[in-house]
Amino acid sequence: MSNKNKRLYNSIRFNSVLGNIIISFLFVIFIIVVFVVASSFFVQYAIENKFAEEYDRITTIAKMYEEGKDSKDIKRIIDASNTSFIVKDSKDKVIYQNGENTCSDERAVVKLENAENEFVVYKDTKAGYLYPKEDGTLGFKTNEFIKKLNELYNDEGIHFSLSHEEEHSLNLNTGEMEEEGVVVSYNANEGAMDAIEDIKIPIWVSTELEDGSHFIGKALLSVNMRDLLLILKIIIGVLGFLVLYIIVMAFVIGFSAVNRQRIKWLFYKDMVIDAYNWMWFVVYGNKIIRKGANSKNNYAVVSLEFKNYRNYCLCHSISDGDKLLSKINVEITNHLMSKEICAHATTSNFALLLKYDDVDKLKERLQDLMKALNDIVPNHEFTFHTGVALLNSIYFDTLSKNSNLNSNGSKTNSSKSNDSKIDKERQNQAAKVSKLARKNLNIENIYNNACAAKASLADTDGLNIRIFDQKLMDEQHWNDIVHEKQWDALEQEQFQVYYQPKYDPKTNELRGAEALIRWLSPEFGLVSPGRIIPIFEKNGFITEIDHYMIEHVAKDQKRWYDQGYKCVPVSVNVSRAHFIESDLAEQIRDIIDRAGCPHDLIEIELTESAFFDDKNALVETIKRLKSYGFSVSMDDFGAGYSSLNSLKDMPLDVLKLDADFFRGENAGKRGDIVVEEAIKLAKRLEMRTVAEGVEEKEQVDLLVKLDCDMIQGYYYAKPMPKNEYEQRMTLNK
Ligand code: C2E
Ligand code: MG
Ligand code: MG
Repeated sequence: MSNKNKRLYNSIRFNSVLGNIIISFLFVIFIIVVFVVASSFFVQYAIENKFAEEYDRITTIAKMYEEGKDSKDIKRIIDASNTSFIVKDSKDKVIYQNGENTCSDERAVVKLENAENEFVVYKDTKAGYLYPKEDGTLGFKTNEFIKKLNELYNDEGIHFSLSHEEEHSLNLNTGEMEEEGVVVSYNANEGAMDAIEDIKIPIWVSTELEDGSHFIGKALLSVNMRDLLLILKIIIGVLGFLVLYIIVMAFVIGFSAVNRQRIKWLFYKDMVIDAYNWMWFVVYGNKIIRKGANSKNNYAVVSLEFKNYRNYCLCHSISDGDKLLSKINVEITNHLMSKEICAHATTSNFALLLKYDDVDKLKERLQDLMKALNDIVPNHEFTFHTGVALLNSIYFDTLSKNSNLNSNGSKTNSSKSNDSKIDKERQNQAAKVSKLARKNLNIENIYNNACAAKASLADTDGLNIRIFDQKLMDEQHWNDIVHEKQWDALEQEQFQVYYQPKYDPKTNELRGAEALIRWLSPEFGLVSPGRIIPIFEKNGFITEIDHYMIEHVAKDQKRWYDQGYKCVPVSVNVSRAHFIESDLAEQIRDIIDRAGCPHDLIEIELTESAFFDDKNALVETIKRLKSYGFSVSMDDFGAGYSSLNSLKDMPLDVLKLDADFFRGENAGKRGDIVVEEAIKLAKRLEMRTVAEGVEEKEQVDLLVKLDCDMIQGYYYAKPMPKNEYEQRMTLNK
């Protein structure tokens, strides 16, 4: 799985769960804040207002008492106010009393938030639920208050209750009720509620008179029952909400878990054949091999391909083909043991991770599996190809050896000293690298090795298995080296142009040449194109190479031309990969023009395989190349499949007969007939002919007889460096 996909999967999975949790969390915080603000505001408002009102009333009566001490009228008014009070002198002795004295000695100084004054208050001995505390707050005994309420309203059919008895303080500075885990509930019907009157909560408030005595009046904080019930309702509502929230959260979390599973399945499911997909294989495969890499387990990563998928789809239908793939998946899965996995990798390829002890037994197991797969559809013969990459100690050793080689670079060759210290250091380093490699195993790379092994099987092989071995590993390593060094090699002009002359077999005169690349590597010596061109074709570097070759050939030709050599056309190979560029003809023309080389000295060779690509684009490019004065030839004619059809449409100048005509089974009587007819055909289409790979005198004689125009082969000359080729050219005198 690509890192991008992995990141996408993780972000969707994370967001789906985290999003739900964050939203519900914020929602709860919001509700709690609203509740706290509203209830504390309400309580503060109620208490402060009522307290302030009562304080004003008591101080007014105190003033009236002070000013009208001796007036009978005033006393009557005070009596009519029904306010109990006592007056204490400076020695705390009661000097006057009105009503019942239920003022206790429990005293405190309290200060309200919005009030400037401090208030001296005393507890009422009868109704003890509101009382002053030393710390400037008022204590409120909820349980006693509830008891009082029940006494008062028992007859009305209203019942109040507390879950447990606790003392609660009312902080008059903040207006908050400091309650801990209290649950207040009531039951009553609406009609009964209407019968409830205000409840008076008594507390004695002291105010100093001018003569130093104190007027202590009984304040009655009147609590409106509707307000009280509203508070109770809020408390009950919040509790109910919390219960509801817990239930909803349980659902959300449950839903997220299910959702997560669903997302996971969507990411890991192959929709077409209802199997695990490649991403799943990478994630779980990596987990298994990284865990198992510390133990002595040997794993085999297998790429199994159903070769007949396309044909089966053609004969039946795509959906039948997919059903068959699904059956194959089920059959493979049935063959798996614990901690082994299988997934649908690409079209008709399955990726497997198997355990093994012995390579021969593993091969037997895979043969059995392929036989079972072959029997899935009666009366059908299928072909399966299997590539295997073994994950064993040899694999790790080679990994560390390769990294060691790389890290030491060119030193490896030169430092053949027997210095045991250095050897030991290298061994330690190799061990470290091997350990690291185990931890950082990536099943994708190992699967690629299995694919490389599978790709090396010929199409004609029946039920077949190929293990990714040292040879393939070396190839892979070589691939990496070439890939790594290609740009440096290009910039340092390590690529050399070799010329292979083409001769007229009748006159033995030089009629042309083909430019062929060689890599003169400081490390690896002279490397043939067969070892680099296929790599460049795969990694896209071939277009650079083609430009490089055209440029160098054009420069050489220009120099030889200027020096007075009798120049002959030199053909340059252009890869089929290059033909997707619509301005290829112009690119080639410009490179040659920059070198100042006459156009008739350059020929462009296309391989036969290029003719299977976009035909119209190819014809267009050939026409434009010809319009600029270049010759165009078809290389390796006869090496691939039906080329005759392409000959019909392509306005080519030269036909190069593939070397295969003159080798092995094709050679001989039947082969000669084909060559003869091919040359005749070319002539009728007004094309010149070149026979490639000619090594024998008899072949030359035959080609003379068949009227072949040119021969390019070892019989005349092998590809050679430019200075040697230069000697084969004659100077114009
Ligand atoms: P090709 O274009 O068909 O080149 C002919 C190949 O046949 C050359 O191999 C040449 O050395 C070889 N050959 C010629 N006569 C004989 C003979 O009598 N006997 C034998 N055994 N071989 C003969 P070479 O140089 O190894 O090149 C192999 C292929 O690599 C070329 O086949 C061409 O497809 C590709 N190639 C080489 N240079 C370039 C290049 O600069 N660009 C591209 N795109 N491909 C190149
Ligand atoms: Mg060629
Ligand atoms: Mg050829």
